[in-house]
Amino acid sequence: MALAAGMATSMPALSQPSGVLNLYSARHYQTDEALYAEFTQQTGIKINRIEADDNALFERLRSEGKNSPADVILMVDAARLWRAQVEGLFQPIQSKILESRIPKNLRSNDEGQGSQWFGFSTRARMIIFNKATVRSSDVDTYEKLADPINKGKVCTRSGSHPYMLSMIGAMYERSGEAKTEAWAKSMVSNMARSPKGGDTDQIKGVASGECGVALTNSYYLARLMRSSKPEDQAIISKISWVWPNQSTSGTHMNVAGGAVAKNAPNKAAAIKFLEYLASDQAQRYFADGNNEWPAVKSVKTNNPALNQWGKFKEETISISAIGTNQIYAQKILDRVSYK
Ligand code: FE
Repeated sequence: MALAAGMATSMPALSQPSGVLNLYSARHYQTDEALYAEFTQQTGIKINRIEADDNALFERLRSEGKNSPADVILMVDAARLWRAQVEGLFQPIQSKILESRIPKNLRSNDEGQGSQWFGFSTRARMIIFNKATVRSSDVDTYEKLADPINKGKVCTRSGSHPYMLSMIGAMYERSGEAKTEAWAKSMVSNMARSPKGGDTDQIKGVASGECGVALTNSYYLARLMRSSKPEDQAIISKISWVWPNQSTSGTHMNVAGGAVAKNAPNKAAAIKFLEYLASDQAQRYFADGNNEWPAVKSVKTNNPALNQWGKFKEETISISAIGTNQIYAQKILDRVSYK
């Protein structure tokens, strides 16, 4: 009995924050170093980082299962956050700070899911076009990319990539299945080449003239705009961009976000870290590190590319709904052979 009592009294210590946080991150930017150092300075909690791309993080979390040491998981794109959520990799948390700081449409709808994530920065899905061959009025909505006027001009990365699935999932939410499928079918017949490469490759394709028009996440364009390399500036000089759907639904927005891991050994520290990411200073670092916008709207960044762009009309569809719709989006893509 004495032994059992002794064990019982030692138990609570195990659930106390240990002063360590295990962070699994699909982000790896130089500026994030300062972000993590600042958290440790403020809280005394040391951060152990595991950095890998989203798919590698998924694999690792799956294989570690219940024994995963992960406390916080950072991922990019609602499609991936949603997938991690339904796979049960996250857990629900209570935080007044996160609930008041992070807008409702930028976090998971946790009803029935038993887990929760929060968006900490936003990115826009922009339309870029070749200045010499395409007029902006012909490509100023996602819908127009499927118009016959753009036959043989359109380039995209694979339709199955999360950035595309989320964008198409948003279209599905606002226009329904039939219209989205008709759009996807016409996109396939408008293509300049079979889908390939990443977003930066689409920008390069537009600059070279192989593509007339393409889609990119905003931070890839901002990165080139801010680059001092002559080859990057040469690309920028050949292209122009529009904020899609300004007179209708607004430009498709997505998030980079985070959550507390399902079996987080240091849950209190994990919540503290997510709350820290929502603070003014961390928001600035977190978003600016990848040329994104802070999720907390009152926070101002001082990023030359973002400043140059100014304000535009953003889509307001719930990021969580977009995640859910990726299943329907993928089925549509399969039916129309959108690679
Ligand atoms: Fe990206």
